[in-house]
Amino acid sequence: MTEVAIGNGLATSFWSDSWAGEPLRKRSPMLFEVSRRKNRTVADALEDDHWLMDLRGRITLALLPDFVALRQVMRSCNIDPDSDDTFRWKSSSGGYSASSAYALQFVGTQQSPLRHIWPVWAPPKCKFFIWLLMQLRIFTVDRLLRFWMPNQYFCPLCRQNLETPVHLFAECPWARQVWERSASLFCCPAIRKPAGDDLAPSWVVSKLAGADRRAASITTLVAWEIWRERNRCVFCNKELSVSGLVHLISDEANSWVLAGARHLVRRE
Ligand SMILES: [Zn+2]
Repeated sequence: MTEVAIGNGLATSFWSDSWAGEPLRKRSPMLFEVSRRKNRTVADALEDDHWLMDLRGRITLALLPDFVALRQVMRSCNIDPDSDDTFRWKSSSGGYSASSAYALQFVGTQQSPLRHIWPVWAPPKCKFFIWLLMQLRIFTVDRLLRFWMPNQYFCPLCRQNLETPVHLFAECPWARQVWERSASLFCCPAIRKPAGDDLAPSWVVSKLAGADRRAASITTLVAWEIWRERNRCVFCNKELSVSGLVHLISDEANSWVLAGARHLVRRE
C-alpha cells in the first residue's frame, strides 16, 4: 500500500517494494523464483548489475519476455546518491486516511483476481484448472523444462512454438481458431481475444471478471477443452480438427445445460 520514489535506493527492497509500479516479485513471479538473492535493496541490485548475476544461468526461453521487461526497468532507473528513498502512502488522495488503511486489510484477499473464478458456473475441476492456469502452475513445457522433466518442446496443437500458457491459450493460431469458432457458435463475441492483448492468464481472468455470467462460463469451458485436447495429443497421440473440438465443446455445453447451466442455452 506504499509506493517509493527512489533516491539512493538503500532503503527500498528490489523485489518487494513498489518502486517501479507493481512490485517486481508480482510483476515477474517466475524471475523472482529463480533469483538467487531475494532480499537485495535497489542500490545493491544495481551495483555491478548484481540483479543480473543473481539470475545467471537460469534464464530459459519462457523467462525471456520477463527478463527483457525487467532489463528495461533497470535501464530507466536513476539513483540519486544524495537523497533518501521516500515512501508514500498509496491511496487515491496520496495521503493517509482511515479508509485506505481499512482497505489495506483486504489486499491479497478480496482484491485477488482469483476471486472471480469461484462464482463462475462450471464444474469444480474446470474452475480448479483455471485457478492453476492463473498462477502459471499448469504443466506446460516451459514448466516441465524448469523441473528437467521429459517434454515434447513444441505446442502439440500447432507444432510451431514452445508451449507456454501464454502460447497455448492466447497466441496459438490453432487455439485462436477454436476461440473464434466458439464465439460464433455461442453468439458470444465477448470471448474473442482482442488483437494485441497481453498474457493469456490475465486475459482469461479479465473475461471472468468483466464478462456476464454466460461469457464467464463459456470462457472456462473453452479453456478447459483446449487443455483436454492438448493432453489428448500429448498422452494419447490423438488429435481432433478445429471443427471436431468445437463440436465437442458444443456437446459439453449441452451437458452443462442439463446439469443446470440454463444461461448456456444457445441464442439463435
Ligand atoms: Zn500452438
